Amino acid sequence: MLEGQCGGQDCSQCGHRQKVKTGHASVCANSGMDMHRDVNADVNI
Ligand SMILES: [Zn+2]
Repeated sequence: MLEGQCGGQDCSQCGHRQKVKTGHASVCANSGMDMHRDVNADVNI
């Protein structure tokens, strides 16, 4: 875990923070960027 804050993610494009659920589409409400592309924390090998 890099960050202790759960349930939120900052948009890498505009910095807008919003709640992100794993398995859901995570499109920034501000810029419309797909934040889900950068989420790989829940991958089990
Ligand atoms: Zn954004």
